[in-house]
Amino acid sequence: MPRRLFRNAACCLAACLALAGCQEPPARAAMAPVSQPVSTPETASEAEAVSTPETASEAEAASAPETASAPETASEAEAASLPEAASEAEAAPEPAPLPDLEDPPQGEDWAVVLVNASHPMGQEEAPPQLVPVAEGSPYRVDSRILEPFQQMAAAAQAEGVSLLVCSAYRPYSSQQRNFENSVAAYLAQGYSQEQAVATTAAYIAYPGQSEHQTGLALDIVTPAYQALDSGYADTPAAQWLLENAADYGFTLRYPADKAALTGIQFEPWHYRYVGEQVAAYLMGHGLCLEEYWQLLEENAG
Ligand SMILES: [Zn+2]
Repeated sequence: MPRRLFRNAACCLAACLALAGCQEPPARAAMAPVSQPVSTPETASEAEAVSTPETASEAEAASAPETASAPETASEAEAASLPEAASEAEAAPEPAPLPDLEDPPQGEDWAVVLVNASHPMGQEEAPPQLVPVAEGSPYRVDSRILEPFQQMAAAAQAEGVSLLVCSAYRPYSSQQRNFENSVAAYLAQGYSQEQAVATTAAYIAYPGQSEHQTGLALDIVTPAYQALDSGYADTPAAQWLLENAADYGFTLRYPADKAALTGIQFEPWHYRYVGEQVAAYLMGHGLCLEEYWQLLEENAG
């Protein structure tokens, strides 16, 4: 029963910060008080699409938003759009109460695992086997989702839509390194420890809290539009994924109207394998993975 996959909530600063599974480089704007808990929509979305590493290890270490986007200096940090992010977050609609639904499909334990700020992964946890998403690709996924992903990409291509993976598996260690490097950079700029951590956390997911550590998440863009921003949602690739990804077992993990539940703002590029049955169920009922787990809990109780 997948219930056991729930992990103990991490009691830390993350609880009051909405953290992204991945992140986007900070945009230029005024600085918010670092003590202010912020839900960072765009800021906390991902930014990994930028790099084209040559090797898997480089891809996993460097590609990350949770990575590449870490501000190098305090002035860059100050430029981040935190105030805007906070107000957008406040404006996010509260999710509707769960409808009375039939029993959700069980799904495979490994495929429906929930990873978020409340359910972090352990330092040693990693997919059992990682494989490149395509021959020669630096991006790796859990071997169990390779075939569904490749089938999905081929189906899209057959309809004239090119899917481009810009991030996949990211290990705990690279996330931790990125986080620590960012904190150190802020400390060097004269931030207090608390400020340095809070500012870092606005851009970079805490180690263990990125779903990319599962090897089941992919950031998918298209050659003609590789920016990780909301504009991607209007591309044929994003629209094709929205309509068809569930047929291959993938779900849009961070829909715009579920940010209050997922803790992460709309990320039209971030897809997560959950299995065909569960993906169809989520899509059919307009649910996110957090709601699926809530239903499982309620039905089990
Ligand atoms: Zn992602």
